[in-house]
Order: sequence, then C-alpha cells, then structure tokens
Amino acid sequence: MPNESVPICPQCGGPLRAGAMALCHRQEDDRRTCRVVWGCSNQHIWWKWADRPTAPLELCPYPDLMGG
Ligand SMILES: [Zn+2]
Repeated sequence: MPNESVPICPQCGGPLRAGAMALCHRQEDDRRTCRVVWGCSNQHIWWKWADRPTAPLELCPYPDLMGG
C-alpha cells in the first residue's frame, strides 16, 4: 500500500474523491502540467498540480471537470 491519505475538503472537512485530470499551463515554470481535480459530496471542487503532491488545494473554477 502506498502511503497515501485521503485529502480533506478545506471548506467542509469532508473526504475528497479524485476526478478528472486537466492539462494546464503553469506560468510559474512555463510548463504544461496536469492538475488533478478533487470533489467532496457537497460539490466543493478543488484541484492541485499532479506533480506537486504537497501543494495546497486550490479552488477549481471549472466544476464541470468533476463530471457534474
Ligand atoms: Zn466540501
């Protein structure tokens, strides 16, 4: 088992479930990098850089990525 814990929604504290991956341009290092979309059962949608597991979750402006 990988040492992986379930992320928690910063807004309501509920467990998050991984959704789609979104390919985004990251201005910081000028790379095209995937973001993983996470959603809780209260329709709070977050995402974070796939290559930065310790990066904080950010609010995802595209809730449709979670598949409705
Ligand atoms: Zn939530």
